[in-house]
Amino acid sequence: MNPSEQIRAKAKELLDSKTVDCVIGYERSTDGKNARPLFVYSSKDADRLIFDQTCAQDLVRYLLNRKDKVTGIVVKPCDSRAINLLLNEHQIQRDKVYIIGIACSGVAKTDWNKTSDKLRDACQICQQHKLVVYDFLVGEAKAEPAAEAYPDIKSMEEKSPGERRAFWEEQFSRCIRCYACRQVCPGCYCSECFVERLDPLWVGIRIAPGENEMWNTMRAFHLAGRCIGCNACELVCPVNIPLSLLNRKLEKDVQTLFKFQSGIDADAPPPFAAFQKDEKLGVAE
Ligand code: SF4
Ligand code: SF4
Ligand code: SF4
Repeated sequence: MNPSEQIRAKAKELLDSKTVDCVIGYERSTDGKNARPLFVYSSKDADRLIFDQTCAQDLVRYLLNRKDKVTGIVVKPCDSRAINLLLNEHQIQRDKVYIIGIACSGVAKTDWNKTSDKLRDACQICQQHKLVVYDFLVGEAKAEPAAEAYPDIKSMEEKSPGERRAFWEEQFSRCIRCYACRQVCPGCYCSECFVERLDPLWVGIRIAPGENEMWNTMRAFHLAGRCIGCNACELVCPVNIPLSLLNRKLEKDVQTLFKFQSGIDADAPPPFAAFQKDEKLGVAE
């Protein structure tokens, strides 16, 4: 059986046995070329499920709206890190999720009505071809991790602080504050985001350089040590701000300083949520 057939068979089995209430996966989108999320509640609809190189979206965030129901979900290795992130932060329970893991070797760059045989940028430098958590495995991982972990941020690291500041000022000046980056992010699930708080007012609603910079840098710091590097925020940004350069630099620094990578181990204490009594902050000591 090919991956789509295996997913359909498993979804039917899970739904008919009432092991799960719903299976979240992918179906062909209306352009006939790409894939879109699909919620399957009955085995008679399971034949709509597909999996191929166009299944780019991370579906894990949908689990946040189904915390009290047992849900089956199709995940790629990078998405499986998002499951561990949410387990680690006690946002979902392991016994409420049935994970259909795909041993994918990368998904393609997609656009409306277009498909490409080129892998997405994040897939080209992926270190994560193995699922970190799953209940049922589809396929066999063939791709090897990229030789270098962070080639994409090298040129940014070589810039002087002034050059970096100028680069980000220009990038953030184009932000239209649509918050699509937040809405798609598995780590951005606060019931009230700081950017919408009025009391205290952290950042004004106006679209202007100072406010835009505050929004983007505060969000990046909220994701430091939590970002799983899925690149979803960058892909949905309508003005093409290269958010992954910021997120991945923070991910690299957290890895270097704390030997921690978010989403790899659901039980590992995250560095910014754990505190040791004898911890030294390195400030004014
Ligand atoms: S890459 Fe973007 S969307 Fe994905 S976890 Fe990190 S901040 Fe969130
Ligand atoms: S930016 Fe921060 S406050 Fe807003 S949703 Fe994301 S983590 Fe929560
Ligand atoms: S998706 Fe892009 S334009 Fe929209 S708020 Fe995020 S950074 Fe700004």
